[in-house]
Amino acid sequence: MFKKVHYVKIFDRIYLVGRGNWGFLNPLTNIGDSNIFLVDGGEELALIDAGAGLNCKKLIRNIKYLGKDVKKIKKVIITHNHIDHVGGVKILKKKLKIKVYSGFGSYYKNIKISKIVKEDDRIKVGDITLKVLSIPGHTPDSIALITKINNKKLVFTGDTAIGDQKKVGKGIVGWYDVHWGSCLEDFKKSIKKLMKLNSDILIPSHGLWSVGKDKVKQSLRNCLKRLDIFSNIPELGTMLPLKPNEMFKKKIV
Ligand SMILES: [Zn+2]
Repeated sequence: MFKKVHYVKIFDRIYLVGRGNWGFLNPLTNIGDSNIFLVDGGEELALIDAGAGLNCKKLIRNIKYLGKDVKKIKKVIITHNHIDHVGGVKILKKKLKIKVYSGFGSYYKNIKISKIVKEDDRIKVGDITLKVLSIPGHTPDSIALITKINNKKLVFTGDTAIGDQKKVGKGIVGWYDVHWGSCLEDFKKSIKKLMKLNSDILIPSHGLWSVGKDKVKQSLRNCLKRLDIFSNIPELGTMLPLKPNEMFKKKIV
């Protein structure tokens, strides 16, 4: 019989505790959710992304199934300001004593950001350290989080690099739309930055993770190829008059 899955262990101390149905996968929480990750720093836990917020009960229940104390969650780190990633923050804030971390360059309408992080900042989650890498392109505020566990380098890439996904395609990247500040040049630079990391596991905010240095490299190479194809669509060029940040400048938190 089909066993109901409540969470997935990705690596030691890293768990998937929520996700929607993107990529034809079984949702763990609400169909509209991004991936939601739990980082287990021992004394302290953190979430990376918060989902759309349409079923936080299920999210909390999944964490309990995993045997973790939700009260130990002290931080929620947002990879970028899109509703499928940040919608849950408000509800989680009501239930838990959390601080919210986000990248720079976005306007959060209903959420109070506790700390805006920049390139090379370190976020401590118990005895785990997450290093921030700024990866604009999909959105101006997109960040990647890098950590080392058991000598393996893990990188959370948000929607900037979703990578090779069996049921969807190769080198998937976040949707490109100038209305939320997408920028093709930045996007390519950010993928190249991610390539330089030489990571062992690439963990995107939608779909499945790429495991192994070669698979990670291949995924990122395919992301770059996809962006090169975007460059060849002249119509897309007409969507590029706005500089990233320009539209957000006056509204920054
Ligand atoms: Zn998303």
